[in-house]
Amino acid sequence: MADSIFAKIINGEIPAEKLYEDEHCIAINDINPQAPVHVLLIPKKVIETLADAEPDDQALLGHLMLAAGNVARQLGVADAFRLIVNNGAGAGQTVFHLHLHIIAGSSFTEGNMVG
Ligand code: AMP
Repeated sequence: MADSIFAKIINGEIPAEKLYEDEHCIAINDINPQAPVHVLLIPKKVIETLADAEPDDQALLGHLMLAAGNVARQLGVADAFRLIVNNGAGAGQTVFHLHLHIIAGSSFTEGNMVG
């Protein structure tokens, strides 16, 4: 499969401001934000969908959760943020390189999954 837009950002082919970077992942602002804070946390390893993750990816998936907390703290939203993973086109996934949406800054109401 051709490199996704996120792979191109990770390998520097497409410039993007990185809000956070470590050995395993980067965080960038979503180009089409759905909330005042809408950040994408993207593993450097290409995994097309969450359902494609394998047992060997367990540490990476845990790392992403910890990194999401770090990014939320860095952005000052650690008290109220939401993580979303769209898995598959039917769930709204448009970029087939696993990523977590970190959403914050809007009021979350119970039962409303996207804030
Ligand atoms: P998803 O629909 O879960 O696959 O999410 C893909 C997200 O990537 C969407 O929210 C897009 O707005 C976002 N996106 C697409 N291209 C870029 C880009 N070049 N830089 C930042 N965000 C992007």
